[in-house]
Amino acid sequence: MITAKFGGTSLCDAQQFRAVQRIIESDARRRFIVVSAPGKRSEDDVKITDLLIACYNAAREGGDVAAAFRPVRARFEEIIAQLSLSLDLSQEFTATVWAMESGVGSAFCLSRGEYFSARIMAALLGRPFVDPVHFVFFNGQGAFDPEIAEHSLGERLRELDCAVLPGFYGAMPDGTVHTFARGGSDISGAIVARASGSEIYENWTDVPGVLAADPRIVPNPRLVDVMTYDEVRELSYLGANVLHPDAILPAKRAGIPIHIRNTMDPDSPGTWIVEKTDRPGSLITSVAGRRGYSSIQVEKDTANAEVGYCRKILSCLEKHGISFEHLATGIGSTAVIVPTQEVRASAEALKRSIESTVHPDSLEITDGLAMITVVGREMVGKAKAAVRLFDAISGAGIPVRLIDQGTRELNIVVGVDEQYFSAGMNAVYQAFFGEEA
Ligand code: ASP
Repeated sequence: MITAKFGGTSLCDAQQFRAVQRIIESDARRRFIVVSAPGKRSEDDVKITDLLIACYNAAREGGDVAAAFRPVRARFEEIIAQLSLSLDLSQEFTATVWAMESGVGSAFCLSRGEYFSARIMAALLGRPFVDPVHFVFFNGQGAFDPEIAEHSLGERLRELDCAVLPGFYGAMPDGTVHTFARGGSDISGAIVARASGSEIYENWTDVPGVLAADPRIVPNPRLVDVMTYDEVRELSYLGANVLHPDAILPAKRAGIPIHIRNTMDPDSPGTWIVEKTDRPGSLITSVAGRRGYSSIQVEKDTANAEVGYCRKILSCLEKHGISFEHLATGIGSTAVIVPTQEVRASAEALKRSIESTVHPDSLEITDGLAMITVVGREMVGKAKAAVRLFDAISGAGIPVRLIDQGTRELNIVVGVDEQYFSAGMNAVYQAFFGEEA
């Protein structure tokens, strides 16, 4: 049994709905289908979810909600008409505008893209529609509750032979709609795969699979055929935009392999994400990276004699709601690496708070750092990857600002000045995947 999730670009218009229908119907094992809201049809188009955010904003500011909803309605009506479906959603569209005008929450507004998308797909396939608002629950703090979902959704899906479900949302304990973070239909797909007892979770998207580097930075990177859940988690957290990071845990816990596939090229092999593989990989699986980091450098000569010193610095970050990504320490120096956008608004207040908490000799926040990361299961216990990585970086004449290796040896992170980011990514990619590698 397969649960197949289709992303927004895969469902951007009627033609794409038909292409998705062909994919689903070409394999009878594809019984449970999870859909996103229609995405962009071209570079300058707007995603349905973004149009719905505009509807919510119009409602909140007392603007014209019906006018803001018009392009949403038009997109869905066009899809229905071009698919020649007898489905009539006009009353529901009107009721949605009323609900928005009467001040319904933002989550309800945002979730309607997935809702209508799934209603149309269910009609097209002739399969039952299952609304996650009755089966996927968040707790009072808004955290997803896997136990209840597994039980209640599992029970419902076992009653059905097949179904179509909207991704992205569920309900709070009081029954009101609540959404995952943006891109969260990936998470819904994993939840449905687990609750239905599927053997495979297919995630259909608009790229060939996981690539060994970001194609916007490294030209024509190779496709990764198989990788582990842990590798893909490292990659997602480090900037590779493959799959929502929170989608991996439900699949990992249930031991369901994830198969990333390309709707535009359904015969291509895609990428398998599994618990373990005997397949010998390259020394590294992928290079990832991101610009936009800041370093909070705290110097104090007597820091090493002060028990709880790092904790005190980190508690200041916690107080300002800033999560850190790397921590590098020397005898009297501590550098905390954070995404610049997290620290920008509160930099001065954060500085004051660190100053009054640990009384450092000096304190500085510098922007303009980029992180380059290599990820790979084959690195464990071998020095070869580190040697090749630093050889590549120094060969390109790039000074290293920071080094961090996870203790599971699945990744090595190198911090460089942003101006060297692209050159560094390319040098590292060539060192591991280029012709001489
Ligand atoms: N439609 C939502 C978004 O644009 C969720 C998703 O597509 O996964 O973020």
